[in-house]
Amino acid sequence: MVDVEKTDTVYHRLDGAAPPAGTRVRGRIDWDRRAAHMRYHTAQHLLSAVLLEEFGARTVGNQLYADRARLDAEYPKFSDADLALVEDRMNDLVAEALPVTTYTMTRADAEAELDTQRTRIDLLPDSIAELRIVEIGDPDDPFDRTACAGTHVRNTADVGAVTVTGRTTQGGDRERVEFALAAP
Ligand SMILES: [Zn+2]
Repeated sequence: MVDVEKTDTVYHRLDGAAPPAGTRVRGRIDWDRRAAHMRYHTAQHLLSAVLLEEFGARTVGNQLYADRARLDAEYPKFSDADLALVEDRMNDLVAEALPVTTYTMTRADAEAELDTQRTRIDLLPDSIAELRIVEIGDPDDPFDRTACAGTHVRNTADVGAVTVTGRTTQGGDRERVEFALAAP
């Protein structure tokens, strides 16, 4: 199997012919790939939060791989000093070993409580009545809280050491920040 996609139903894309209908198959997660995505996805939450806190730069896109990731933010241009500060802050958050928890919230509560800089609830389809919240840090005073359906590690310590590997402009006051993680 080479890919899984969920739209109206779950599709498993194969690299060969599909087995006859009714064939019993067993699925197995590629754990190395999954674990890498969990670490990179959690790191992306940290990066989005740091960019918002330090620069007021909102995340507008991201792409995760098993060995690197990139994130696009609304900002004119990050300097080398900016990127060094971002890397330091992310590594601080990893060192703090903050818990990462998930729970569900009704859309109405989310609209009332969530930071719209972090979650664009207005972009979600009307059919979505309940949101899955990913929270990082002390539940009484969370460092970050966003709506997200992805997979994450359960503690920022599991993200591993962060290296910001570069930046490029995407034009129109959009910056792309690239980073990589070392296994914890
Ligand atoms: Zn996420």
